[in-house]
Amino acid sequence: MMSMNAIETHGLIKHFGKRTAVDGLTMSVPEGSITGFIGPNGAGKTTTLRLLLGLVRPDAGSATVLGHSLTEFERYLPRVGALVEAPAVYPGLSGRTNLEVLARLGGHPRSRVGEVLETVELSDRARDRAGTYSLGMKQRLGVAMALLPDPELLILDEPANGLDPLGIIGMRGMLRLLRGQGKTILLSSHLLGELEHVADWLVMLHEGKSVYCGTARELLSQRVELVIEPEDD
Ligand code: ATP
Repeated sequence: MMSMNAIETHGLIKHFGKRTAVDGLTMSVPEGSITGFIGPNGAGKTTTLRLLLGLVRPDAGSATVLGHSLTEFERYLPRVGALVEAPAVYPGLSGRTNLEVLARLGGHPRSRVGEVLETVELSDRARDRAGTYSLGMKQRLGVAMALLPDPELLILDEPANGLDPLGIIGMRGMLRLLRGQGKTILLSSHLLGELEHVADWLVMLHEGKSVYCGTARELLSQRVELVIEPEDD
């Protein structure tokens, strides 16, 4: 049963110069859910994820991640795995060695490397150079990196971007497996089709504001009306 929220934001605002990327965003991500963060290009998805990860500071509003406010990011970040920027992958090293280097740097047990390779279904190609991986395999290696600390919460920015249909199906299976392990997953996409078969909960963003935050089932049954304010000019 979903009872607590892994993430809550209240009136979050972020400006870049005159541009408002996040405009009073209030949303929640239920614990144990796969939550889809959907919105067109430029809606503010990446900026929101970066705010949650403490990579940029909000201009106003508040948020909690795993029960801690954004200012306490050093307390919650060890429990969060993220793939928001392209991961630093050494193309000349194998997928396994890339993970081993990261595990050593992060102080994670080496046994985690084999486990995360299994989870992302890269064990068969783990000895190949990461530079030879397809886009889908690179995405999975990125997810494997995010999984090394065995995080409770996984934040993934457009993990299905550029994947072929089989890659998208593979990604869905992996996300379900991770949810089954008790993790909460927040993933963004600008395509509803990438999220509708996997997300339990959807947050829909339009110009930095949430226009829907609720169950995927209710949104997809079209029983909700989205309130989108007209543009000023
Ligand atoms: P996409 O799917 O294209 O990545 P998005 O929904 O993730 O879009 P953001 O990347 O958060 O949207 O961008 C929201 C708005 O903020 C855009 O207009 C973008 O140009 C602007 N923006 C984001 N980061 C910066 C920055 N560092 N400096 C200036 N403007 C920025």
